[in-house]
Amino acid sequence: MNAHDSERVAGLLEDAGYLRAPEGETPDLIVFNTCAVRENAADRLYGNLGHLLPAKKAHQGMQIAVGGCLAQMERQKITERAPWVDVVYGTHNIGALPKLLERARDRQQAQVEFEETLSTFPSLLPARRESPYSAWVSISVGCNNTCTFCIVPSLRGRERDRRPGDILEEIGALVGEGVLEVTLLGQNVNSYGAEFGDRLAFGKLLRACGEIEGLERVRFTSPHPRDFTDDVIEAMRDTPNVMPSLHMPLQSGSDKVLKAMRRAYRRDRYLSILENVRTHLPHAAITTDIIVGFPGETENDFAGTLDVVRQARFASAFTFQYSIREGTPAATMPGQVPADVVADRYQRLVALVEEIATEENAKQDGSVVEVLVAEGEGRKDAATRRMSGRARDNRLVHFAPHETTPRPGDIVTTRVTSTAPHYLRADDTALEVRRTRAGDAWEARKRAPVIGDTEQAPAPGAPGSVPGGSVPVLLGMPGRRG
Ligand code: SF4
Repeated sequence: MNAHDSERVAGLLEDAGYLRAPEGETPDLIVFNTCAVRENAADRLYGNLGHLLPAKKAHQGMQIAVGGCLAQMERQKITERAPWVDVVYGTHNIGALPKLLERARDRQQAQVEFEETLSTFPSLLPARRESPYSAWVSISVGCNNTCTFCIVPSLRGRERDRRPGDILEEIGALVGEGVLEVTLLGQNVNSYGAEFGDRLAFGKLLRACGEIEGLERVRFTSPHPRDFTDDVIEAMRDTPNVMPSLHMPLQSGSDKVLKAMRRAYRRDRYLSILENVRTHLPHAAITTDIIVGFPGETENDFAGTLDVVRQARFASAFTFQYSIREGTPAATMPGQVPADVVADRYQRLVALVEEIATEENAKQDGSVVEVLVAEGEGRKDAATRRMSGRARDNRLVHFAPHETTPRPGDIVTTRVTSTAPHYLRADDTALEVRRTRAGDAWEARKRAPVIGDTEQAPAPGAPGSVPGGSVPVLLGMPGRRG
């Protein structure tokens, strides 16, 4: 969600005339899009702001803006603790950022502005998409649930659903630009439609995505077991471009803990959804989120989580050690679990998740996978002379291109030759390399002039120029020097 918000922020700023700072150059503007869900988010933000102070002093006119969930939570505190910050804005007024920056510049004074409700649906704002082949598409914002460990509802507000026609129009336009894969985004995609009175709207939306010519892959995140209905599983089964993967948060395998978390489902319900998914989509890879050490969790409750993990056989899991998030109901609950107990349970959970992921991945050995080649998925690609991408079930695949030259966005069909807990390897010659429109779009973007290259900056008044000035405002993080 935040990554897509960052694309909106970048798009808005580019629309307002800002240019991306070239690598290594000190930018004129730095925007922090913060997330309050992450551990020690506030400490990290203030630490980063502190580190920037010398750069700001040395670089006349540099502006710093802070937005996102943590800004919504901290509000005035940010400019009190870091008075060198120029703009603070909230989750409901992303669109105001260029105006606030201008006002801060004109008045030489920090601008702090929030709105209590969403004024403009973020999807109506311009976006600077990071990838020409794969795109996020918001279907809703906010959440009507009240999970006791989560700060999202109080910061993002109640769920607001976009109209299906608007979503499909956005996807159609993205496909027209070369995009092959979309990920539908919502805090709870399964409650999509509640706002306009159609409980089956999400399944219908998936089926409608199946009608979009040229759209090869549809994914979604996150589903919620409480609202997960059979029609969604049927839509996944019947719609060939909806991918056989499901990331469904479990959080705990103990009914008592789920109740304390205010997660309105129980372990049997969760497991029955998985069984149904596996009946209809036998090759689906199922992944999850799990929190260990929620207040009141006993060893017996934790054993329940391990038991569900064994039964569910997740392809992978994001595992978290519970820690207090200020402002959430769980922060003041009795029975906070000592850190050493949480750490011990966490280690045992990770070991089990790894063991099962290793076994599940091993079953893929020798299978044929269709990989959407991606940029930045394989950190060791240069050293290993492999390329990387995602299989249809979202497993990470590192493959050897041999004499072929696929581009990010192209599709490579290849055979898995070995496996590891977190990825598959395919070292034989590919069975097929399909050059796609998305690969063409990636290549065209690569050939385009570097945005932010001052040699090639547009003339004042031209698209991409800065209103009222000939010097482009560079956007990004300061380069490391020395
Ligand atoms: Fe937070 Fe729960 Fe809503 Fe997810 S479903 S955003 S965890 S309140």
